[in-house]
Amino acid sequence: FQVPTAINEPVKSYAPGTPEREEVLATYKAMYNATVDVPLYINGEEIRTGDTGTMSPPHDHKHQLGTYHKAEKQHVQKAIDTAIEARKKWADLAWEQRAAIFLRAAELIAGPYRAKINAATMLAQSKNIFQAEIDAACEFIDFLRFNVEFMTQIYEDQPDSTSGAWNRLEYRPLEGFIYAITPFNFTAISGNLPASAALMGNTVVWKPSDSQIYSAKVIVDIFKEAGVPDGVINVVYGDPVMITDTVLASPDFAGIHFTGSTHVFKDIWAKIGTNIHNYKTYPRIVGETGGKDFIVAHPSANAKQVATGISRGAFEFQGQKCSAASRAYIPKSLWADVEKHLKADIKSFKMGSPEDMGNFITAVIHEGSFDKLAKYIDQAKEDKDATIIAGGGYDKSKGYFIEPTVILAEDPKYTTMCTELFGPVITIYVYDDNKWEETLALVDQTSEYALTGAIFSTDRYAAAEATKALENAAGNFYINDKPTGAVVGQQPFGGARASGTNDKAGSYLNLLRWVSPRTIKETF
Ligand code: GLU
Repeated sequence: FQVPTAINEPVKSYAPGTPEREEVLATYKAMYNATVDVPLYINGEEIRTGDTGTMSPPHDHKHQLGTYHKAEKQHVQKAIDTAIEARKKWADLAWEQRAAIFLRAAELIAGPYRAKINAATMLAQSKNIFQAEIDAACEFIDFLRFNVEFMTQIYEDQPDSTSGAWNRLEYRPLEGFIYAITPFNFTAISGNLPASAALMGNTVVWKPSDSQIYSAKVIVDIFKEAGVPDGVINVVYGDPVMITDTVLASPDFAGIHFTGSTHVFKDIWAKIGTNIHNYKTYPRIVGETGGKDFIVAHPSANAKQVATGISRGAFEFQGQKCSAASRAYIPKSLWADVEKHLKADIKSFKMGSPEDMGNFITAVIHEGSFDKLAKYIDQAKEDKDATIIAGGGYDKSKGYFIEPTVILAEDPKYTTMCTELFGPVITIYVYDDNKWEETLALVDQTSEYALTGAIFSTDRYAAAEATKALENAAGNFYINDKPTGAVVGQQPFGGARASGTNDKAGSYLNLLRWVSPRTIKETF
């Protein structure tokens, strides 16, 4: 198969004076001053139910970006019926035709829509421009382009045939429709979950996070302009329990592509189990959920490198990545140096609105998240076995701002060493240099999650030992690097244990879940 060769989209700099900086700032300003009204999108039609919710920037929560319309049960049912109907033609469309649509979507994001999708992500999810660019532009483009390569890689995989017989594998889409539930924290993931299933010939009912509806609308417009036919991707917003229950009640429910919290995913899994006798096929369950991602430094590590790993890994996008470092284990002999560099890094981070491009830290996503983080910070201020050594301040008067915070724990099982907070807070435990093996065991056993983790070491034997000892503790394991920032086509992403089904986004392994192959043997 010959398809355009995918290469990772280069990240633009947005340095002062560059055209991309001017354009994104002007777009941000225009979008801030406009008001949008986001309809449901079913069978290519925009539906306004009149039951609306509002959208605001997390860094400026009194300002309204507009409204969105909430679905009633009948709209969700219509989205399901539409997806089933649209599948008849879509599933039979040649793969080259489907691929062309999503490659066109990638070109639209790379060019005319780049500023808009970045500005939307800055406004609604409070990403600084650099985090928006690597997510909403580059990673999204990469998913769309690489998925086409992964798809052809799958289709090319054919069994042997002997003379007199011809064996073929036909990679059909699943029989039914796919339900995509997408998170607020990555615009790229939000677009990729419905797009990857659709690329493989499936039709989709998509429910974005309430906190990401604003940029999801930009994605919907891009997909439409790229030529995704009506009914292939249908979008509903509103009461998540009602939407999910309605979707899971359909006998044609064939799979879920999910990124979000562990408890929601487990609830959905249980509901699928309850409904199992109603389905025509065993639904595919694909989910990427929480994390309690670690950094472990060996005594041989470079202290400055460790500190950079912590400050970037824990605080980029306010720690709101499933992959964010949120617990670290540092040997006593290295701690003074790591602490010095870490504090210097944190001091250099400016906090404020994303339209001021000098701000590294912006707001956390909503009040619920802010209040939860503030509660854990207050608790650490009171607890005798915890000390806040950097940050600890918060303010929600204008936006949901939480300072990048470092908690030093005396107990390696201190609450914030074990609990996922999903914010700019990291807890550090300083271990005795002669307890390296015990520390590795501790890292493995402290959390129910297994998404990402990093080991810093200049000693090759220690790095190898940690790689082995932590083989079940992280689906993405980094040696001498921060545990975030997986790149499509380079570091397939996903974890096991309570972190998900480990169906590696950004690789053919994920797309394989969206096909139901038929084996055809023909004799002559
Ligand atoms: N793929 C992202 C990373 O490597 C994280 C995705 C997520 O937060 O769900 O940082």
